[in-house]
Amino acid sequence: MKLEEYNKKRNFQNTPEPSGEVGKAAEKLKFVVQKHAASRLHYDFRLEKDGVLASWAVPKGVPEKIGEKRLAVHVEDHPLDYGDFEGDIPKGNYGAGHVDIWDHGYYVPIKWDGKVVEIILAGKRMQGRYSLVKTNFGSGKQDSWLFIKNKLKKD
Ligand code: MN
Repeated sequence: MKLEEYNKKRNFQNTPEPSGEVGKAAEKLKFVVQKHAASRLHYDFRLEKDGVLASWAVPKGVPEKIGEKRLAVHVEDHPLDYGDFEGDIPKGNYGAGHVDIWDHGYYVPIKWDGKVVEIILAGKRMQGRYSLVKTNFGSGKQDSWLFIKNKLKKD
């Protein structure tokens, strides 16, 4: 079931984060990047898909130059409302720490399968073609991907 893992990790009596419900499909698909000062600072990259936000944790920040590649760990889907969330997750809760929206906007999917996500982003800081490619390396438990900023046009 969608968002089961998201809801399981949180006690909504104790955190201001939104509780998880699957939303309706929209005409324009949203993306968001949240800067999350948890025990380790990271950025969360989220793409609206089928009423939820597909999510990756990006430890070193999103790629900003063409050709740059960053590790992105695929994590559980989040509810659509999470895309508007900013604030503090209190101590003792999952992901405790401050969350800021670092960028947001819309995206167009080019390709989306189990191994590759290719998109065009239209945000304030992030614009153009990006891809996420599933990798085999990294510790077995993590679902590791590479987040790449691509040239605008394919050769
Ligand atoms: Mn996070």
